Amino acid sequence: MKTIVCEKPGEMSLQDQPNPTTLNENEVMVAIKRIGICGTDIHAYGGKQPFFEYPRILGHELSGTIVKTGKQVQKVSKDDQVTVIPYVHCGNCIACKKGKTNCCTDMKVTGVHVDGGMCEFLVLPESQVIKVEGMTLDEAAVVEPLSIGAHGVRRADIKAGETVLVIGAGPIGMGVAKFAKLQGAKTIIMDINEERLSYCQKWTDSDFVLTPSDAAVEKLLEMNDGHLPSVVMDATGNKQSMMNAFYYVSHGGKLVYVGLVKDTISFNDPDFHSKELTLMGSRNANLEDFEYVIKCMEEKKLDISSYVTHYVSFDHVCEYFKSNNFNTNKALITLEKENEEIK
Ligand SMILES: [Zn+2]
Ligand SMILES: [Zn+2]
Repeated sequence: MKTIVCEKPGEMSLQDQPNPTTLNENEVMVAIKRIGICGTDIHAYGGKQPFFEYPRILGHELSGTIVKTGKQVQKVSKDDQVTVIPYVHCGNCIACKKGKTNCCTDMKVTGVHVDGGMCEFLVLPESQVIKVEGMTLDEAAVVEPLSIGAHGVRRADIKAGETVLVIGAGPIGMGVAKFAKLQGAKTIIMDINEERLSYCQKWTDSDFVLTPSDAAVEKLLEMNDGHLPSVVMDATGNKQSMMNAFYYVSHGGKLVYVGLVKDTISFNDPDFHSKELTLMGSRNANLEDFEYVIKCMEEKKLDISSYVTHYVSFDHVCEYFKSNNFNTNKALITLEKENEEIK
């Protein structure tokens, strides 16, 4: 089968590898049809992903169809269309036991810590696939990145009428802003890139947008009747942005880091204390978040045709990464030409 291997930083090749042949009782074989390209893949290719081992088959935003099932598999059968949950949790650690499988102490992500979906056939435990009906393969492939935004919004426990500032108008920030809006929040989006801002505002139906500046606090006050947002969600993964975000939250408010940076964040404690801020991390997503995103798609609340902005055929993936031009919201690798509907 055709397989794309990231050999080492800056080196990727299209190879012919043997098809998987054996299936355990609880496993399924998925014919991969769509693979979303995300920042993690770009960082891994660029050698900037912490704790990353090479060679690695990337690809964790996946959709496809079931071609084979193990004897004990019950949830799905041959020809079912599925989306993939790339997170593998241990089920026994303190986080898993609390139901917080998204931050398992021994988290393994398919396509990051173990080989992923940049190949024609992928074998996974049945627990890692969700059958999806009445959705396109494109929609099914972006359930994962959108679930990360949905998880952040659920973590922040956003209520109707609240004002939420989302920093970072990339594919994750777009999901955060959209799901905050669906909760009935007033949303404001901040990004350094004007083009991305207007695109994100349209897609998420946000109330205001702004670029970061020394006057950001004053502008936020103007946009929100003299009050700062009660929830600020940073999806930039940028240290400066993440530190500045403390100043944008109202007294008694919450700051949620949906993005992460490989660095130390510092803040002014008297400011943190006087505001009695709640600071939260938000990592990955849970099954519940996947199911919520799928439900939103079924209810046609998310326009994926404009969330996906670029297509790359499987044979051109290596060139795409080499071009180093990732200026698009969400690129999908396609393993077949037609954009077929899921039956
Ligand atoms: Zn991703
Ligand atoms: Zn665990």
